[in-house]
Amino acid sequence: MKKQPVYVTRSNLPALADIIPLLEEIWDRRILTNNGPVLQRFESALSDYLGVEHISLVANATLGTVLAMQQAGITSGEVITTPFSFVATSHAIKLAGATPVFADIDPITLNLDPTKIEALITPQTKALLPVHTFGVPCDTDGLAEVAHRHGLKVLYDAAHAFGVHRNGQSILRHGEMSVLSFHATKVFNTFEGGAVIVRDRETKLAIDRLANFGFDATGAANAIGMNAKMNEFSAAIGLAQLCRIDEVLADRACVAQRYMEQLSNIRRLSCPSPTGIVGHNHYAFPILVGSDFHVSRDELHSRLEEENIFTRKYFYPLISDMEPYKSLASANPAGLPVARKIASQILCLPLYPDLDIPTQDRVIEHLLRY
Ligand SMILES: *Cc1c(COP(=O)(O)O)cnc(C)c1O
Repeated sequence: MKKQPVYVTRSNLPALADIIPLLEEIWDRRILTNNGPVLQRFESALSDYLGVEHISLVANATLGTVLAMQQAGITSGEVITTPFSFVATSHAIKLAGATPVFADIDPITLNLDPTKIEALITPQTKALLPVHTFGVPCDTDGLAEVAHRHGLKVLYDAAHAFGVHRNGQSILRHGEMSVLSFHATKVFNTFEGGAVIVRDRETKLAIDRLANFGFDATGAANAIGMNAKMNEFSAAIGLAQLCRIDEVLADRACVAQRYMEQLSNIRRLSCPSPTGIVGHNHYAFPILVGSDFHVSRDELHSRLEEENIFTRKYFYPLISDMEPYKSLASANPAGLPVARKIASQILCLPLYPDLDIPTQDRVIEHLLRY
């Protein structure tokens, strides 16, 4: 008989007791969206928690990134980005009106490598859109330095970077703007949702307007905005999730730590995920299945699946190998050797805050057979 399935992630829910009073409030008031009172409270609680001043809450990170690009004036030209990400990173660039240009990644952080950018800069280059992959901070100084030298903007896809700190400071304070995702599968979720973190109040208000059809205070549309508002229900979920987020992050760290201890001695299987970093959120637990490991990554993935253990080849394939992007010059595999190698070896193991030890041990025991 097959054992209970264990999935790569399991969405975290707030306690019903924390959400019901907020829902009663919404039901009484009948304000369901449009910068409602719950959203305003969530925005303020979130900026305190994250340690940032100016936040625009949005319907999801994909639209949030499009709005951030639009607000930063990046609606044409080229944007240098990573091929080792979720496809929305490049989609947002295209949807804003620009073209992604793929640069290779660093083999340790798995983030955009600042030393690979300069060769790709042309007169059309407008900005960089790096990703803090799996919540591991980018080389923000290296990226800022290249950007500064060439007059480029830096916007961060921070979809994985909820609550990540470095040297006591939120990682979201880097770059002109950062975009968080609150999708169901992220470290912090509002079912669907996201936030754009910006540096000043004027930009926050401008993004809020773009997320509401471009309406200004008089009710006239003065820009071609869209509908990317967060609704009151999602904001209520967010407020309730914030009550328990510290426990969630601590539980994720325990699971990651246990993997690290148990798996670190398996030959030719490495854990690039740095544990023990203060302020890390353990977004995922990726392992790299070396080409000289006993079985291939794909074989390991299928064998685990036979045991009802569902891991994820994430990110694979590279965005640059996907249909809408593969014909771009920068998608040429020859220019992306590190990203290709990592994408062919990576496997993310089950990790969620309430993953219990016996279940985690099933995953570990299977891997220890090799
Ligand atoms: C999830 C994700 C997104 C998209 O976020 P949504 O809120 O689902 O639109 C963008 N970039 C990365 C790296 C992601 O993982």
